[in-house]
Amino acid sequence: MQASGKIVEMREKLEQAGLRVTRQRMMIANLLFGKGDRHVTAEALYAEASVIPYPPSLATIYNTLRDFADKGLVREIALFGGKVWFDTKIGPHFHFYLEDREELFDIPEELIPCFDIPAPPGTRIAGVDVVIKLERLPEGMDLRQPEGMDLRQPEGMDLRQPPKASTAA
Ligand SMILES: [Zn+2]
Repeated sequence: MQASGKIVEMREKLEQAGLRVTRQRMMIANLLFGKGDRHVTAEALYAEASVIPYPPSLATIYNTLRDFADKGLVREIALFGGKVWFDTKIGPHFHFYLEDREELFDIPEELIPCFDIPAPPGTRIAGVDVVIKLERLPEGMDLRQPEGMDLRQPEGMDLRQPPKASTAA
């Protein structure tokens, strides 16, 4: 059965990470990992949990997410303003943050520049976190193509030029 298979999978995930399997952790893991790769805050997960019977408290959810992050099951991302996000995609990747909507999402890999910054003497780079803060343009100001992720600013763009095809295979 699909449902019980998922539970076994989740149990193994926790055990392999060296976490004791508890009912609360299983509940939170199911909520968190049940929807594919995503970015959540403890508050958002708490809101989702409120529909299930006997939901965990916000503090439990937060502590559990921290435990998961310590064991490498999720990636913790601290943002401007102090809000902590948890990302179920753990490999290195960078983020956009749309501040007024509180949305955190991945920057497509093809747009990520290659960093070649040497660590200062006596240190090594332990990780690279890049979050680009966004704000929405006022209505009607966005002249760019919605798809294609062209990052140029609209001003100075020659509108007679067709947009470059950025997704040529
Ligand atoms: Zn991400």
